[in-house]
Amino acid sequence: MDKKKLSFNARAIHAGSQHCPETGAHIAPVYRTSTFVIENVERAIRLGYGEEEGYAYGRFGNPTVDALQKKVAALENAEASLAAASGMSAITTALFANLKKGDHLVAGDIIYGCTYGFVRDILPKYSIEVTMVNTAETESVKKAMKSNTKVVYIETPCNPVLRITDIKAVAEIAHTRGALLFVDSTYATPYLQRPLELGADIVLHSATKYLNGHGDVLGGIIAGSKKLIDNIRKPYMEWIGGVISPMDASEISKGIKTLGARMEIHCANARKIADFLEEHEMVEKVLYPGCESHPQHELAKIQMKDFGGMMSFNVKGGFEAGKALINSVELISLATSLGCVDSLIQHSPSMSHAALSRTEREAAGIAEGQVRLSAGIEEAEHLIADLDQAMAQVKKKLNI
Ligand SMILES: *Cc1c(COP(=O)(O)O)cnc(C)c1O
Repeated sequence: MDKKKLSFNARAIHAGSQHCPETGAHIAPVYRTSTFVIENVERAIRLGYGEEEGYAYGRFGNPTVDALQKKVAALENAEASLAAASGMSAITTALFANLKKGDHLVAGDIIYGCTYGFVRDILPKYSIEVTMVNTAETESVKKAMKSNTKVVYIETPCNPVLRITDIKAVAEIAHTRGALLFVDSTYATPYLQRPLELGADIVLHSATKYLNGHGDVLGGIIAGSKKLIDNIRKPYMEWIGGVISPMDASEISKGIKTLGARMEIHCANARKIADFLEEHEMVEKVLYPGCESHPQHELAKIQMKDFGGMMSFNVKGGFEAGKALINSVELISLATSLGCVDSLIQHSPSMSHAALSRTEREAAGIAEGQVRLSAGIEEAEHLIADLDQAMAQVKKKLNI
């Protein structure tokens, strides 16, 4: 059987997962070890020079981590992938490995908050020039390109306003200028979108979110060609050291087995909730790529299999109303993560994007009453009922 030809769920379950060859254990044990015993010094030397495949030390490789890397590579249709201790470890290591003093980076102007901080405040300290643009406008990306541009960095759908960037078009622009395209595909997961198939060079994930799906570990993924991944692994990941623990890698591998099944429910729930919110008197605007009102709805339809489980919406009554809403939910949890089996909600202006000034938020489309919802896999009727009762409380409290 050609395992490469298996469909998504079969690959999610089987790729990289092995039964234990020694004991026959159906689920292979987690290799909880920091180092590996080597037969003799000659082999140690060959391992050190990379002349022979094998394990020598936990920061350089671990079988449980390898299993996760194989699984994600199979799902992203990548030659190789590299796991990291967190999404930020994956993002920063991949960028450091591909940028040096005097290079230029073009990045999206609305991206995950810590990525935004890294790109804006840290890269320039290493004399790496950065231009941030609205990557949903392909022309802006083209204009921002310089002769020393080495990487174009986009997030699609992006956090928190769910803007969609045309991966194929931006890949073409980057490649014409000899630059690489990096895509943070955390919101979409490989179930809904595969950036490498659309021309991207590197795809990044916070595995903390949908890939693991259960909210109990941090992790990150970098996937791409063997050449690019090898270059990031050795020496950057090995020397910077942000590797994932085998226990966490094992949790993420387990989570991924149900990714397809979970995403189906996340998407169906988000659609029902978005429809409900679009009709609600307390809601001014819903930002969900699945809504026809979304400015890049047509592009999302082409680029993604479905529209995902994330949405933002603007509550009538501004800043205080947004805060009151997230304080009033009962089943949905007030928390700043996403992509979990249970539903999470946050108020972007006072939480994830509090560091931006009101003017910066306005320019980014983050309204003062904007709330971000990560629809879980609880039955949609319960989530809708919870939002409805919370809206009623806001309406009463603010006398709207
Ligand atoms: C959470 C997140 C990150 C950072 O990942 P961590 O695992 O928290 O380090 C990066 N990008 C996006 C889109 C995210 O949602």
